[in-house]
Amino acid sequence: MDFALSDEERAVRDTVRSFITKEVVPLEQEVLRRERAHQPGLEPGELRELQLKARKFGFWGLSTPQEYGGMDLSAVLQSLIWTEVGRSFVPFRFGGEADNILYYADEAQRAEFLIPTIEGERISCFAITEPGAGSDAANIKLRARRDGDDWVLNGEKTFITNGHDADFTIVVAVTDPDKDVRAGGSTAFLVDRSMGWRSEFIQTMGEGGPASLIFDDVRVPARNILGEVGQGFELGMKWIGRGRYIIPSHALGIGERALQMAIDHANTRETFGRPIGVNQAIQWMIADSETELEAARWLTLRAAWTVDQGEDPRHSSSMAKLYGAGMINRLVDRVMQVHGGMGYTRELPIERWYRQVRLFRIFEGTDEMQRLIISRDLLRGYTKIGGHLA
Ligand SMILES: Cc1cc2nc3c(=O)[nH]c(=O)nc-3n(C[C@H](O)[C@H](O)[C@H](O)COP(=O)(O)OP(=O)(O)OC[C@H]3O[C@@H](n4cnc5c(N)ncnc54)[C@H](O)[C@@H]3O)c2cc1C
Repeated sequence: MDFALSDEERAVRDTVRSFITKEVVPLEQEVLRRERAHQPGLEPGELRELQLKARKFGFWGLSTPQEYGGMDLSAVLQSLIWTEVGRSFVPFRFGGEADNILYYADEAQRAEFLIPTIEGERISCFAITEPGAGSDAANIKLRARRDGDDWVLNGEKTFITNGHDADFTIVVAVTDPDKDVRAGGSTAFLVDRSMGWRSEFIQTMGEGGPASLIFDDVRVPARNILGEVGQGFELGMKWIGRGRYIIPSHALGIGERALQMAIDHANTRETFGRPIGVNQAIQWMIADSETELEAARWLTLRAAWTVDQGEDPRHSSSMAKLYGAGMINRLVDRVMQVHGGMGYTRELPIERWYRQVRLFRIFEGTDEMQRLIISRDLLRGYTKIGGHLA
């Protein structure tokens, strides 16, 4: 069994690490200062500038097909890169990306929505959650009624990432209430903000925040249907499925960086005339953190590898998301404990991570929904215990 990275994987990982170290990490103190003043850590123009710098390094469109100028990297490579990105808390991500389901767009929609999103000229958001339908996404009510060549949308979406900044949304609506939302009753629409939906920003415990989207008789031409009529829920699940190995990949980077801070602090902070790291209580927190980090790493890389094998990654991605999200919450909590009072201040990024990673257990399927998926697969015999090695 070979757990080593290939030469290519190592080279890509090292190039990204050097980009993040040289270009992103130096911005950290300014990001903390701005966030303490309740300002965005990075302005959109600054993010774009960094993304264009990364493009010169050759990093643009990690998941984007080459015909659209992207790198079309394997899921394992994308996972490794997201881990490197996670090592800095600066809200940076590589440019040249679009929502995976935008590739279901037809020719005209590609020109209007997909390509400008890849180029960073337009901002998208994906909306399925509603005030009355979160974990039970099949319970959505936002309605689209056919009217001549148009569809008229009424209802509300909530907790939509980028919802307040987006130029357009990919919204899943009920198009046939006689059918199950999961089986032909819902459809995805590409809806420009200029068509009349409005957004309301939602304050959260994290930096930045999602938004509610309000649709009040919003008229959308039938040519703006993404994919097929009736395919909405299926596309929604494809969108959500991708995040399930990216989120724990990101968590690994946060964990590596935070744990190193704890180790450095344990070696230098002295109490009772000795470094705190000589105490078993501190040593155990470090040992547990490293062990859990390593376990999360292999669950996550295996989930990404499953994607690359062209197999159904749902089971392994759910385990990676569940364990990775829990791991990073426990790890950051221990790192704060090791730092004592300093860990609780806004001088250090630990309290910021603490607020940020709490979301990982909630969005793109809560812990409980991941457990539901994993156990249901086993109870119904869809998956064998032990996966590939069974
Ligand atoms: C910052 C942020 C960004 C988000 N971004 C997006 C986005 O871009 N697009 C989008 O569409 N949505 C987005 N969401 C929504 C997110 O996916 C939902 O919040 C999440 O799926 C949970 O739904 P809910 O909040 O309605 O909780 P609920 O479904 O009401 O659940 C409440 C609690 O009950 C538990 N629970 C529910 N049912 C069961 C059950 N059967 N068994 C056991 N426990 C259960 C849940 O696990 C949870 O702990 C975002 C949310 C946040 C907070």
